[in-house]
Amino acid sequence: MNPADDAVLREVQRLLSNSLSLAGGTDEVATRLRAALILAQPQLVTMLPGSAQLQREQLAQALTWLAHNLDNPPAVVAGCVQLGGALAACGIQPAQLQLVGAALAEAMRAGMAANGWRQDFDQAWRSTWQHVHEWMGHGAEAARYQPVTWLAEVVSHELRRPDLAVVRIRPYLPFPVRAGQYARIEVGEVPGVWRPYSLAGRGGVIELHVRAKTETGVSGTLVYRTQPGDQVRFSRAEGSMGVPPGSRDLLLVAGDTGVAPLKAMLGELAATGDPRSAVLFWGVRDLNELYDMDDIALIARACRRATVVPVVSEGDSGQYASGLVTDAIAAYGEWSEADVFLAGPPVMLAATSAALQVLGVAPERIHHDAPEG
Ligand SMILES: Cc1cc2nc3c(=O)[nH]c(=O)nc-3n(C[C@H](O)[C@H](O)[C@H](O)COP(=O)(O)OP(=O)(O)OC[C@H]3O[C@@H](n4cnc5c(N)ncnc54)[C@H](O)[C@@H]3O)c2cc1C
Repeated sequence: MNPADDAVLREVQRLLSNSLSLAGGTDEVATRLRAALILAQPQLVTMLPGSAQLQREQLAQALTWLAHNLDNPPAVVAGCVQLGGALAACGIQPAQLQLVGAALAEAMRAGMAANGWRQDFDQAWRSTWQHVHEWMGHGAEAARYQPVTWLAEVVSHELRRPDLAVVRIRPYLPFPVRAGQYARIEVGEVPGVWRPYSLAGRGGVIELHVRAKTETGVSGTLVYRTQPGDQVRFSRAEGSMGVPPGSRDLLLVAGDTGVAPLKAMLGELAATGDPRSAVLFWGVRDLNELYDMDDIALIARACRRATVVPVVSEGDSGQYASGLVTDAIAAYGEWSEADVFLAGPPVMLAATSAALQVLGVAPERIHHDAPEG
């Protein structure tokens, strides 16, 4: 890059930063930008994943990031290409983003004192947006030919059992996911190896429940050698599990870390105030394996009609039911009219599915992800 280009970029960067400050800062600009987009293109905003607050936070982060990195063109190009791919995965195409530049200028102008919006600010944002839009277009185009992946930062890591960790990760870019889905994860220690993990979590933070069967591999790395600040990469969300439309009662049956996707589904019932009844049976070997009971019970209490029934198969079961989870399900009530979702180890899926069919649940009402072959 020649020094003259460098000077121009720094001047544009200065104008972006100054105008953002004069317009009230990135948080305020992002709030007005989202409000302007809702008026101009309501459909676009509904296609963005997450709550209103998460969308505002991500818009603010994007503006801060852009102003901060503008003097580093390779980083800006790469970031915009990734954003274009992530938005394409949300179903948003570049043509739908054309108005965003004008909405952004309006969001800036509206936060400034009278006559505060200067021509040089206008020019700086206009030229920057044109480039950003073009690079996002390249990202959306690339997404048609190669899989989109997301980079996320580990924000917390809790070893809940000697071999089990709850790992929370925050993707940098919008990530479309339905409660109950899973994604394939790659860790730096094992490049090129992508393993499926269910996704729980809320508010833009994804929660993984990982049990390591060995010290190595993706699970071993996530459990034993991962800490806040590390990065992981993950693929598009997959799987057909999720809160179904309709009004049938829900029977959710988890074995071990299979509780993660069902916790996500309970979270959705709570967030939407869904009136359906849902009962989550969580089968574990011993009491110590109920590694996430407090949080799951909290979410169940926030639902209109949800209950959690832990079932402990060996030793002291404390305040909970003991024995086999399938026996506890049979003793609890009648399930032939329920929609059933199972998650857990392959053997548990097969055994529970067979037992439920004996109890009169039609096979087409029983849903679970296919175990990996
Ligand atoms: C849809 C879906 C969702 C899933 N969600 C979760 C989840 O939320 N949490 C979770 O923890 N898991 C989950 N899994 C399982 C998880 O994907 C596997 O545990 C993971 O693929 C293992 O990969 P790895 O790289 O850690 O193990 P690798 O090292 O590649 O080993 C693969 C498997 O081989 C076995 N193995 C390897 N070496 C040995 C050895 N020396 N002795 C005995 N056995 C060995 C282990 O059982 C291991 O699971 C899910 C699976 C599917 C299909």
